[in-house]
Amino acid sequence: MDTRPVNPLDKLTEARAPAHVIGVVGGAVAGSEAAALCAKRGAIAVVFEQGARPYGKIEDGLPRWHVKLREQEYARIDENLTTDGVIFVPKTRVGESVALTSLLGDLGMSAVLLASGAWRDRPLPIEGAERFVDKGLVYQNPFVYWFNHYVEPGYDGPRYEVHDGTIVVGGGLASIDVVKIVNLELYRRALAARGIEIDIVDLEQRGIPKVLEAHGLSVDALGVRGVTLYYRRSKEDMPLASMDDPTPEQQAKLRVARGKVMDRVMRKYLVRLVECAAPVEVIAEGDRLAGLRFERTEVIDGRVRRVAGSTFEVRAPMVISSIGSVPAPMTGVPMRGELYQFADWHTGAVEGLPGTYGLGNVLTGKGNIKDSRKNAVDVADQVLSRYLGVGEAVSERPAALVPPVVRDAVDEAMRRGPVAPQAQRRLGEAVRALWQQAGYTGDYAAWIAAAR
Ligand SMILES: Cc1cc2nc3c(=O)[nH]c(=O)nc-3n(C[C@H](O)[C@H](O)[C@H](O)COP(=O)(O)OP(=O)(O)OC[C@H]3O[C@@H](n4cnc5c(N)ncnc54)[C@H](O)[C@@H]3O)c2cc1C
Repeated sequence: MDTRPVNPLDKLTEARAPAHVIGVVGGAVAGSEAAALCAKRGAIAVVFEQGARPYGKIEDGLPRWHVKLREQEYARIDENLTTDGVIFVPKTRVGESVALTSLLGDLGMSAVLLASGAWRDRPLPIEGAERFVDKGLVYQNPFVYWFNHYVEPGYDGPRYEVHDGTIVVGGGLASIDVVKIVNLELYRRALAARGIEIDIVDLEQRGIPKVLEAHGLSVDALGVRGVTLYYRRSKEDMPLASMDDPTPEQQAKLRVARGKVMDRVMRKYLVRLVECAAPVEVIAEGDRLAGLRFERTEVIDGRVRRVAGSTFEVRAPMVISSIGSVPAPMTGVPMRGELYQFADWHTGAVEGLPGTYGLGNVLTGKGNIKDSRKNAVDVADQVLSRYLGVGEAVSERPAALVPPVVRDAVDEAMRRGPVAPQAQRRLGEAVRALWQQAGYTGDYAAWIAAAR
């Protein structure tokens, strides 16, 4: 009996029968979910991931105090990427290391699923703001990346010093994490200055007032001003709790629930909130951003209106913009404004690129794990069963867990004819070359244990 461990690449390099081969761009929540679904339907999924590790926003976005959630999501991504029929290709950026068009072209794949997420910060909509990046202005994505990784030995990413009196422009879920990070860092530092070393995850879980109390300290005694969040609507409008098509009664309850969520954040992390204020202008001092001018707003019939003549100045040593993330441009993908140009938002079909579908955060725009996963399964399921005619249109996971967009995209991708064995073997050799460039051997567990 041959006792060699099976190498995932054998599926391609030793191909004897036609099979659908799906290229998946991005190996995190959505990409890994779609890849596993493709493999379970009998297709081969080749997952291109730009990073060494495949965890995407779970590792670099979700703040590190979500210890259990991160572990659970890592485990699920690992399980998906080691599903029989899934071939993981790390450190390979589509659009750079490999051209997007070559996946369906030279490499002859059946379909491509774009699960590349939303990695570009939406620019602060104020004239001239961009010239102050890292000169008083910081964007959310690199800031949270820094927070999640700076404690690691050998960390060599962006570095930030958190300043007391920082202001954050935002209002969504991610901006709540950003204000928490700022105050957790400020209080950790203030406590350390008094010889009290406290772990930030512990500080997040217990909340700042409780920890101060346990050390017999008052907020005033520490003298930390802390962070202030500026939001252009009211706290009851914050997308901190949502529901599909709520009735007016549910809507009213949602507003109360959102207000309560924000009140709790303010109490537990000593965060200040200024509602109904939109940034309109930078305050510059030399080559540094010294603050922002805001205008008061009012929300009428759900629409934000500026109140004329209500401008006020806020000076701050650090401004963090946390107003949303959009897909990073990828060579070969048409854009409409700041988004990819989708011909159909249900299937995720990309305009002008037949056989290419978006799924997960890149399509939904919702910064939410459940939505990314659900969408991924929906699109993938559809691409597989409807268009490629592979398998029954149902994944092993309960349908509710398989996002409709993922099912749709997989179904649609699978409609193209299967790839002949000889072409699969050629494709296998191309993937082997990419593995060699990355230094990957196919041993996923060993790679993850060593990769940083
Ligand atoms: C601060 C913050 C807090 C959050 N908190 C929560 C929370 O509490 N609960 C919740 O449910 N969700 C939360 N989210 C959102 C959640 O983490 C994301 O919505 C979800 O993980 C997105 O999954 P995805 O697979 O669609 O995208 P990503 O995780 O963004 O995955 C995309 C993958 O594609 C790869 N990639 C990108 N471009 C290329 C390319 N050209 N070639 C190859 N690979 C590429 C990336 O490296 C990445 O691994 C939070 C996000 C942030 C930023």
